[in-house]
Amino acid sequence: MGLVSWARKRSIWVFHVNAASCNGCDIEIVAALTPRYDVERLGVQLVPSPRHADVLLVTGTANQLMRDRLKKIYDQMSEPKYVVAIGACAASGGVFNGCYNVEQGVDKVVPVNLYIPGCPPRPEAIIYGILKLVGEAPERKESVETIAN
Ligand code: SF4
Repeated sequence: MGLVSWARKRSIWVFHVNAASCNGCDIEIVAALTPRYDVERLGVQLVPSPRHADVLLVTGTANQLMRDRLKKIYDQMSEPKYVVAIGACAASGGVFNGCYNVEQGVDKVVPVNLYIPGCPPRPEAIIYGILKLVGEAPERKESVETIAN
């Protein structure tokens, strides 16, 4: 493994986008980032600009208001970049699936590397998903795709 790859695994910078969520998933992201779960101890840090981020954490349905903004934010990230869809709304539209102004998942707008299900997913699932993305998650019987609430 190269030095840059090694360093990136231990220094994952994330940018959070609320693409029209109800804030339920966002609260769980905040819980993961703050001292109760303290994901920063694992090298995961929230950054204020997508230009600095390795990973985009997206919540919500990517409705008509947010669709173009989400794409613009994604385009500002430098390679390599990853997208994590957090919650049922980001994965498929969730309870809003079929509504006239929402996408059936944020992967209709930007490419998604990982889905974390739940409404909302717990902070443990969010942390595990991010670590799974960079290959740092401990081995478990069930994968992150099957972690339920
Ligand atoms: S998945 Fe549930 S908690 Fe998350 S934004 Fe949608 S409705 Fe809210």
